[in-house]
Amino acid sequence: MARELIVSFDDYWEGNSRTEELESLYKEFPDIKITLFVITGKCSEEFLKNAKNKNTQLVWHSYEHSGSWLHFTKEETKNYLLDCQKWGFEQGFKSPAYKWKEPHIKACDELGYWICSGSTVPVTAKKYWHTSPYEGLTKYPNKEYDEYYDHFQREEFCQRLEELKQFIRETRPTFKFISEKVITNTCKDYEQQNLAYYWK
Ligand SMILES: [Zn+2]
Repeated sequence: MARELIVSFDDYWEGNSRTEELESLYKEFPDIKITLFVITGKCSEEFLKNAKNKNTQLVWHSYEHSGSWLHFTKEETKNYLLDCQKWGFEQGFKSPAYKWKEPHIKACDELGYWICSGSTVPVTAKKYWHTSPYEGLTKYPNKEYDEYYDHFQREEFCQRLEELKQFIRETRPTFKFISEKVITNTCKDYEQQNLAYYWK
């Protein structure tokens, strides 16, 4: 059976969207699935309306990638998350630098949203995904999937992308969006676990 591949890119916004490179992926791999983490405050309405296509899913990655949102209350966080649905965003959230406070996790838990954090900063929300801390390809010999993750603004982006294409050509994986891999936490003590990881 084909292994799964999860592809995600951080910091997608109007001036940092690598349109040409993404198009080259869609063209060569028509069934590729890419999770894009979007900085919405740096995008025009027009851009956001057209950002989603059959190969992409969009997830909120803060308003302007600063820490200003860290002070959002639970209700403010909910409002921002829900507002993004008008552009077809997923029910997910990834914070810049994996900074979390209790209200953000609670907001996601109450809305049924998933949180994407890093495996080095685990957040055991009710629904979560822990992504690789490494840019480029991460192979997991003991799991059913491998992962590819990068930031659009990196100098090595194009070089790494060629490695990704070569990997796909050789291994012919089944593509998965992060939303398809989200883990639902069944542990009753999840709030307790989260406390250790809140950003103070
Ligand atoms: Zn980021």
